[in-house]
Amino acid sequence: MTSPPNTADTLIHAGWIVPVVPHGVVLENHSIALTGERITALLPRAEAQAIEAQNVLELPGHVLLPGLINCHGHAAMSLLRGFADDQPLMPWLEQHIWPAERAHVSEEFVRDGTELAIAEMLRAGTTTFSDMYFFPNACAATAQRLGMRCQITFPIFDFPTAWGQDADDYIRKGLALRDDFKHSALVTVVFGPHAPYTVCEANLARIATLAAELDAPVHIHLHETAGEVLMAVEQCGERPLDMLNRLGLLGPRTQCVHMTDLGDQDIALLAATGAHVVHCPQSNMKLASGTCRVGALRAQGVNVALGTDSAASNNDLNLFGEMQAAALLAKLHAHDASALPAADALAMATINGARALGLEDRIGSLEVGKQADLIAVDLRGPETQPLYHPLSQLVYACNGSQVSHSWIAGAAVMADRELTHIDLQALAVRTNQWQQRIAHTPGVTL
Ligand SMILES: [Zn+2]
Repeated sequence: MTSPPNTADTLIHAGWIVPVVPHGVVLENHSIALTGERITALLPRAEAQAIEAQNVLELPGHVLLPGLINCHGHAAMSLLRGFADDQPLMPWLEQHIWPAERAHVSEEFVRDGTELAIAEMLRAGTTTFSDMYFFPNACAATAQRLGMRCQITFPIFDFPTAWGQDADDYIRKGLALRDDFKHSALVTVVFGPHAPYTVCEANLARIATLAAELDAPVHIHLHETAGEVLMAVEQCGERPLDMLNRLGLLGPRTQCVHMTDLGDQDIALLAATGAHVVHCPQSNMKLASGTCRVGALRAQGVNVALGTDSAASNNDLNLFGEMQAAALLAKLHAHDASALPAADALAMATINGARALGLEDRIGSLEVGKQADLIAVDLRGPETQPLYHPLSQLVYACNGSQVSHSWIAGAAVMADRELTHIDLQALAVRTNQWQQRIAHTPGVTL
C-alpha cells in the first residue's frame, strides 16, 4: 500500500463509488482524487480530508463509476436516426441507408454527425467509443477536438465508396491516419474490415499479416444474421468464423461484432483464440438479426463487451439502455432470472469493453494509476428512489439522463449536465440543415 498524495487537482466526495474492479463492489462514503490525466487516490472519505485539492466536489447523492465504453458504432450515422425504421437488414441497407449515404456522405457530414453522436454519448455516460465509418479522419479529429476517447476503426471494403477505391486504398489511407494519431492520448486507430461478405479472402489475409506486424486490433462485423452464415457456407463451404481462423485473423486483438449465429464449436473457437465479442442487443433486436448466446460465451470464458451500433439501427447511443437490454435478453433467452446480473452487465459496459479494445491497463475501472475516465450518476430523483442497491439502480432503473458529471483523462467534459466543449444550440442548427437535405434525397422515399 502506498500512502495517499498530499495534493490533487480534483477531489470528489461521493455517496457511493463503484470501481468495477473488484467485481460487484460498492464503496460507501468514499472519495477519489485526480491529478493530471490519472486517478491518484481512492479512499474512505475520512482519510481523504488530508488531501489538499484545487477543486473539491461534494456529490453525496451520486454514485461514481468508470465512464462507459461503447465498443461498436457508426457515429456519423446519427444524422440518419429515424430515417428508415421497421425493415430487415438488407432492404434497410440497400433501399434506404446506402442511397442516402451515396448522396450525402462527406467530411462535413462525418464531422457534424460525429459531434451529434458524441454529445448524446457524453450525456448518457459514455466516455470511450469505437467507430467504423467513411472519412475516419474527420471522426478522429472531431473526437480529439471535443476531448472524447475513441478507437477509430478505418473501414476496408473491396469496392469503392466516398472515402476510398479498393482495399489497397483504404489500407493505405487508414495506416496514414494511424501514423497521424500515434501520439494521441485519446485516439487509437485500428483495422476495420467491414465484414467477410464485403472483403475478399485475399484482402482479409493481408489484413491479418499487417495487423500482426503492427500488433494492432481488428474490428469486424461477424455472424450478424443466420442468413450471412448460411450464404457463406453455401458459397465457400465454410462458416465465416472458421474462415477468419484459417486466415489467422482470430486472436486476442480481434473484436467480433454481433455474433448472433453461434454453434457450440464457434464458441469453443472464440474461447481458444481469445477473440472478443461485441454484443449489440438493441440493434440485433430492432433489425431482427438474431440473439447472441451471451451466457454460453461467458461460461466458456469469452470476453463479451457492449455496443450500440449506429443511431440508425438502435435508435440511440445509450449504454444504460444497452446494459438493461443485455441483462433482460440474457434472462429471457436462458429462461433464468439470475442470468447476467447487474454487476455483470455493468462490467460488460466498462472493463470488458476496455479489454476488447486492448485498453484495460488504462481505462474500464476506477483504480489508482488508471486514466481518470469517470462519471457521476445522480440517484436522488424519483426514478431511482428508494435506494437499496446502487448497482441495481444503475442497470435496471437509470436511463442515462441521471448522469451529471463526466471526466475524460482528468478533464471535465460535462459538469451539472452542461457539456464543456459542445455548443448544443449551434449543433442543433447544423443537424436541422442536414435533416432538410437528407429528407429530400432524390430517389429515396422516407
Ligand atoms: Zn455496425
